[in-house]
Amino acid sequence: MPLKIYNTLTREKSEFKPITADHVGMYVCGPTVYSDVHLGNCRTFISFDIIYRYLTYLGYKVRYIRNITDAGHLEGDRDEGDDKFSKIARLQQVEPMEIVQKYTLGFHHVMQLFNNLPPSIEPRATGHIAEQIEMTKQIIANGYAYEVDGTIYFDVEKYSKEKPYGILTNRKLEDLLEGTRELGGQDEKHGRLDFALWIKAKPEHLMQWPSPWGMGFPGWHIECSAMSEKYLGKQFDLHGGGMDLAATHHTNEIAQSEACYHTSPANYWMHTNMLTVNGVRMSKSAGNGFLPEELFTGDHPVLDRAYSPMTARFFMLQTHYRSTLDFSNEALQASEKGLRRLWDAYETLKKLVAGSRELAGDAELNAKCLKQLAEFDENMNDDFNTAKVLANMFELVPVINSIKDGLIKPDAIAASTVVLMQEKFKAYIEDIFGLKDELNLNDGKLSGVMELLIDIRKESKTKKDFATSDKIRNQLTAIGINLKDEKGGEMSWGVE
Ligand code: AMP
Ligand code: ZN
Repeated sequence: MPLKIYNTLTREKSEFKPITADHVGMYVCGPTVYSDVHLGNCRTFISFDIIYRYLTYLGYKVRYIRNITDAGHLEGDRDEGDDKFSKIARLQQVEPMEIVQKYTLGFHHVMQLFNNLPPSIEPRATGHIAEQIEMTKQIIANGYAYEVDGTIYFDVEKYSKEKPYGILTNRKLEDLLEGTRELGGQDEKHGRLDFALWIKAKPEHLMQWPSPWGMGFPGWHIECSAMSEKYLGKQFDLHGGGMDLAATHHTNEIAQSEACYHTSPANYWMHTNMLTVNGVRMSKSAGNGFLPEELFTGDHPVLDRAYSPMTARFFMLQTHYRSTLDFSNEALQASEKGLRRLWDAYETLKKLVAGSRELAGDAELNAKCLKQLAEFDENMNDDFNTAKVLANMFELVPVINSIKDGLIKPDAIAASTVVLMQEKFKAYIEDIFGLKDELNLNDGKLSGVMELLIDIRKESKTKKDFATSDKIRNQLTAIGINLKDEKGGEMSWGVE
């Protein structure tokens, strides 16, 4: 079964056919680095990381571009308000680039904690002002943009007479106009849906560049058009981002490319659904966003306790990227258990020695295992259905555990099936899903050390040597490992 992708543009799943055989060009809108990314933003970047990893697993050579938006993103989506960077820089009395640097580094750190691979290129909008100016000039020359006192607007009404505007979200121009407020007396735009390609800067504006129209700064949408064209060409395979970007940002990217190069930029548009809290989309403005850092420390009113990066990643994998995902402590705790169970089985599986028997002792069980394994790729090929692959894995976990516990004979399944299971689990858990073992670092060495420490602590308690037993517990707590006394003198441990 070939890879099928749900394309927002056509509103259906279709077979993925790259422009150049064996190569994929993929652009994902990156963060606006004027503040920390919240967990909702991370869901989108984790989803595309898994898509990137899976395309690579299929053998494609992927050029993955994820930009950094470091200028031009205004507070309102429709050209109103201040530039987000200038505003914060002014408030904090620092250079805008200090803001950009701080949050770019923070973003990279968070991506690393979640084990997201870095993109092939991470272009910054401010490094591509010349390309944005060139594109704007071409759109004016083609007759789709106009200047009003140093600001350049895209002429949506003119464009929509020749090409459909709003095709990405299947909206008609009249409906879009209805949903937009009337032009105010002060408004210099010709049409209500027109948007800025280049914005004239007031003298006090902190980030501004010379252009043929005077000092100014770029619009947010033209940045992504110029950067995707530079690194992937006028037409490329995949463009992604969160669903909230489709209606305006991506709609305008399509219009800009069509107006400039007479091509639609991407063949497949992919949109991830939102992370919600009690059904409400997580966002800075709703005030319900919490930071990855807060998740890892448990230091936020919504959180009962801390959760690890891999627990959060696993939690996200359990839902298809196009479904909404609601955050709750119960769900995170269930994910934590699920991940542990999966990882324990994976460790057992790694140690299973495939016997020399090629014939399975239990043909039915063997066939069941092979069917589940075959479905891994089938489910991923069905629009990257990570949730279903995990369900396949959890069908196999009891088989692995039963072999370990001696409930099933080791030769019940064929040697080749065991090897295939080992290969597929490794490929999916580590390479595609990007999970790593947080508790069992270095193949269980940490578990071994912990067992030893727990033994010493038990012994010292028996001997009433509380200085030693307390020292062990306190020093472990200080480095983020919590020891818990259970019933009957047993002890368990967990990493913060
Ligand atoms: P921003 O930094 O605001 O431009 O957002 C970065 C990315 O995160 C964009 O692709 C957004 O669509 C995405 N995003 C924002 N909020 C959420 C959310 N609650 N759940 C998932 N993705 C989100
Ligand atoms: Zn973008």
